[in-house]
Amino acid sequence: MLRTDPVNLLQYRKAEKAADNHLSAIPLSGRRYTQYRQQLGNCLHFSYWACILKTMIKKVHDKTSSQNQLMPDRGHPTWLIHIALLIYCSAANSELRPDNFVNLLNLEPTIHLEMRYASSHNFMGRPVHGYKTAACWLTEPAANALATVHRMLAKSGLGLVIFDCYRPQHAVNDFVQWASQPNQDMKADFYPRIAKNDLFSAEYIAERSGHSRGSTVDLALIQIKPPLATILDSVEPSTRPDYCQSDYKRARNAGQLDFGSDYDCFDILSHTANNSIGNKAIRNRQYLVDIMQTHGFSNYHQEWWHFTFKPEPYPERYFDFPITAQ
Ligand SMILES: [Zn+2]
Repeated sequence: MLRTDPVNLLQYRKAEKAADNHLSAIPLSGRRYTQYRQQLGNCLHFSYWACILKTMIKKVHDKTSSQNQLMPDRGHPTWLIHIALLIYCSAANSELRPDNFVNLLNLEPTIHLEMRYASSHNFMGRPVHGYKTAACWLTEPAANALATVHRMLAKSGLGLVIFDCYRPQHAVNDFVQWASQPNQDMKADFYPRIAKNDLFSAEYIAERSGHSRGSTVDLALIQIKPPLATILDSVEPSTRPDYCQSDYKRARNAGQLDFGSDYDCFDILSHTANNSIGNKAIRNRQYLVDIMQTHGFSNYHQEWWHFTFKPEPYPERYFDFPITAQ
């Protein structure tokens, strides 16, 4: 039996070292090796703490048994620990990221990221499963095209703000799970005129997302010049719609152009061709679609912010590796 003493801590360290040596012998590239090692390291850490927990449970059990001899020995609930360990390790050893995925900021560090699903500012009101950090991973051709768009925009004082890139399948599963629950905390801001359980049939949420294929991105345009403090001067208050505007002032103060509805507001106002959003917003949507199309991206007609690079390197694959910094 493992106990929580220094000897067993040493055993644990030896096991970690042995795993490290074993992995060193595997001809993986440096990045994939690091990912693999992190996942195995997580398992070993969990295993160590599981042994501590097992010891504690046994001590409590032994004490109780000695105090009450009539109590039958039902054995130790170690099977629970082993099942938990199995589930955890299965999850930790999820898919590895393919080599042709790149971190967008490594290509173009001046692109502004506002990764909503890594934060609580989204329709679920909390960070989404699988977003371990606020990073944008995309297939190489999609990322290259996006960096080119950003550099083109910079010539006229504009740039890209990115809301979402590659999305793990278990993040999509988290959406599905959320949709089956009664909580509607974020309804006013993100789906004000549609019932939560209609989000699937209305095709705002699906059990599989193009984002999981790695070549789809959600974005808007941001004004780099003139200084951000002056941007609110150009607002068109008389043409603002009544819905999907709760993030309007914050977004404008952050430099975002007016696109007529907030990002991720599931409403007909977000349909790209909607014509009740004011002339300036209509022009901005058309400009965004045009510049993205020029560089190989096609728009989803129900969401002005959603673009897929074509041809996709993985048109049939739905990846499930977590979003990490490296
Ligand atoms: Zn999208």
